[in-house]
Amino acid sequence: YVFGKKKATEVAHLIWKHVVRNGDTVIDATCGNGYDTLAMLKLVADESGRGHVYGMDIQRDALESTSSLLDESVPLKEKESVTLFSICHSRMEEIVPENSPVRLVAFNLGYLPGGDKKITTISETTRLALEAAKKILIPGGLISLVVYVGHPGGMEELETVEAFASGLSVDSWICCKFQILNRPLAPVLVLLSKREIAETQ
Ligand code: SAM
Repeated sequence: YVFGKKKATEVAHLIWKHVVRNGDTVIDATCGNGYDTLAMLKLVADESGRGHVYGMDIQRDALESTSSLLDESVPLKEKESVTLFSICHSRMEEIVPENSPVRLVAFNLGYLPGGDKKITTISETTRLALEAAKKILIPGGLISLVVYVGHPGGMEELETVEAFASGLSVDSWICCKFQILNRPLAPVLVLLSKREIAETQ
């Protein structure tokens, strides 16, 4: 039982818990109002301050909202384990220090809830960001995407994500999606899991 009355984002958070460990480096590719950033911080933060969340968004409002949520939710010391960047997620490789073991890259696509609905993620930059995430993820890591199909461009974006996932090597990746069949406009959760050890046929 995973779905029940849970939202796709809550299901994603449950799955992250099985993948991410204290001290990991993770990426929130779409900070928005910061709920995913906060969930990730709780998974990686440890006493030694080793774990880190790199968050990004193209809207200043979103980064401010994320920063405020962290201020309200965690002690200042813990907040230091998050760094926020005002850049497009297609540039994520530029901000994560080299040799950081990135175990999770999470996308929550679409528009900023409470913000301008016309500013959304778009297929082309999402595809570029997926290419970047693929390069920096460690074996055993996960790319998690919540894709909203009910707004203009959303269905096309899901097709882009699925085309990317379908093209990944079966030896190194396990790619799947959770979709509510009797609610066609419900968000779709796509999970791209990089195998610990590549399997040869
Ligand atoms: N994860 C968020 C949360 O927990 O509240 C919700 C994310 S919201 C659905 C999508 C966000 O993606 C918006 O804030 C939007 O500004 C951002 N976004 C759109 N295009 C982007 C891009 N190219 N790079 C990074 N963020 C982008």
